Amino acid sequence: MKKKMATVLAVRTWEPGSIREIDLHLPDCDMSGWTSAQHIQCKVGSLTYRDYTPLGWDAETSTCTLLIHTGHEGIGSRWARRLVVGDAVAYRGVRSSHHQPAGRSLVFLGDETAIGHFLALRQLAGSDARISGAVLLSEPHHREEFQAYYPGWELETLRKAAGDYQELDHWVEQWEPREHPDAVFYLAGYIPSVVRLRKLLRRKGVERGRVMAEGFWD
Ligand SMILES: Cc1cc2nc3c(=O)[nH]c(=O)nc-3n(C[C@H](O)[C@H](O)[C@H](O)COP(=O)(O)OP(=O)(O)OC[C@H]3O[C@@H](n4cnc5c(N)ncnc54)[C@H](O)[C@@H]3O)c2cc1C
Repeated sequence: MKKKMATVLAVRTWEPGSIREIDLHLPDCDMSGWTSAQHIQCKVGSLTYRDYTPLGWDAETSTCTLLIHTGHEGIGSRWARRLVVGDAVAYRGVRSSHHQPAGRSLVFLGDETAIGHFLALRQLAGSDARISGAVLLSEPHHREEFQAYYPGWELETLRKAAGDYQELDHWVEQWEPREHPDAVFYLAGYIPSVVRLRKLLRRKGVERGRVMAEGFWD
């Protein structure tokens, strides 16, 4: 696949700095047909690529934002920490996740790496969609900021203790299926957690077609 280039327009760091928002200009990318969440395969090292999810895209200007978790030691994380305005970003393509908003009630469950995916689905669903669910965040300050950014959402922010995803399991265990018969679930992020949440939801009687799952990393 032919390599393409993007340019970094702006960088914003969530303090304390374990999440970075990167605004990109992708002159070769036609975003006008995006009807599902997309993933950009960015070159983060020699022969090394990582997927990130564009959100807040604008087809007219060919711009979008990536929201990257940088609070762990990894090749992609180090690459994202170093990015500055004006940098060129090589990417080898954009592919669809096949996740599209289905219905008006969307339930998101995931960690920091899935926030971009959820915001992309929210953009596609439009502002009248009902958003609920829970996002695991390690930093207490990020949880406050998240609530302030998206005040109309019934999306809870849960505390992630080191490597512990149990809070999402508890959220599902307490969830009452009869109150939300039309809800469609979107699970993304840490693969073992996505697998477990899917099983829990199926055990609660949520039909297969109402659970969209995409594991990102393990
Ligand atoms: C389709 C798709 C879409 C994705 N979209 C996004 C996105 O929008 N934003 C985003 O941040 N990531 C996203 N990811 C995940 C991303 O591509 C990387 O897999 C992830 O960030 C880890 O890459 P790394 O090179 O930093 O760490 P790696 O070098 O792959 O891993 C190093 C170590 O860090 C651990 N690790 C990796 N990630 C985390 C984490 N988040 N928290 C704690 N420990 C971790 C690993 O278990 C491993 O032990 C997406 C992945 C896929 C497949």
